[in-house]
Amino acid sequence: MKRRKTRKIFVGNVSIGGDAPISVQSMTNTKTEDVKSTAEQIKKLEDAGCEIVRVAVPKMEAAEAIEEIKRNIKIPLVADIHFDYRLALTAMEKGADKIRINPGNIGSRERVKKVLRAARERQIPIRIGVNAGSLEKELIQKYDGVTAEALVESALTHLEICEEEGFYNIVVSIKASDVPLMIEANRLFSEKTDYPLHLGVTEAGSPRVGILRSAVGVGTLLAEGIGDTIRISLTGDPVQEINAGYEILKSLHLRQHGLTIISCPTCGRLQTNLIPILEEVERRLIGINKSLTIALMGCEVNGPGEAREADIGIACGKSSAVLFKKGRVIRKIKEEEIVQTLVQEVENWRK
Ligand code: SF4
Repeated sequence: MKRRKTRKIFVGNVSIGGDAPISVQSMTNTKTEDVKSTAEQIKKLEDAGCEIVRVAVPKMEAAEAIEEIKRNIKIPLVADIHFDYRLALTAMEKGADKIRINPGNIGSRERVKKVLRAARERQIPIRIGVNAGSLEKELIQKYDGVTAEALVESALTHLEICEEEGFYNIVVSIKASDVPLMIEANRLFSEKTDYPLHLGVTEAGSPRVGILRSAVGVGTLLAEGIGDTIRISLTGDPVQEINAGYEILKSLHLRQHGLTIISCPTCGRLQTNLIPILEEVERRLIGINKSLTIALMGCEVNGPGEAREADIGIACGKSSAVLFKKGRVIRKIKEEEIVQTLVQEVENWRK
């Protein structure tokens, strides 16, 4: 898969674009000014592999809280700001590593200049975030609705304001809850500029449906080489966003992260109780951060082939299974030994 060449920017010590790995982001859903809860949530996100975290900054207390939050976390922090340039200035002063603000919404050119000057002095990038739900009225009228062209024009207009001030340290996102619209707008934008792109299907919904919508939207673009950082927006615990993000990247071989468990869907040939075995294996392996593929296969039809391809695999037979490691048959085990054997093999695994 050939990735679109974009310019590289730095958010703290994490790079986005160019040859940087596609990073996985999330956003807290605590009150940002509640420093304890926000930092605790960010630590959970860090443990799950989150590489950049965004916090909402709707008021001055939230912007002020950034300083203390930053003392308690390791990953770069992005301040999400709408309209108010004073919040942007304070967030940067307090240590934000990136701010999300749309220059066209800040107000007078003097205010824009102040924000861009502060960002330039501190080498803080700005994310221009265009969202189908808040597209400018004039563009909706001009294009007779919220279209991909209208979204791209909005992003380009915000970009032009920055470029006129000599500011290029930018990442862009164009999000929509409508998946084809989001795909089309990002394709169009990526043909026109080499700014790095932050991808996401916005308001994707609960994890049950949101992960699927995001996988289609974000995954389609990534498969075309478009996209430099991703956020999977879900209504729920943001840690799920990180897991979903990595699964999407892993499925396209764009990142390695933790365990990849593959298992057959089961069918009438199954002679082992594979479904509860898989659930138990998944439960016992949560939090293990080794880059390994584990295959749990139901029978001898496709089982040995897949189990051989994985780092560790089992191909079940009648109330038993054959254990494979790195393509080699190791031994036959009883059905009741499968879970413990797999967990032990993973725990003992050394490259
Ligand atoms: Fe059915 Fe065997 Fe394939 Fe599983 S591996 S779906 S049990 S044929």
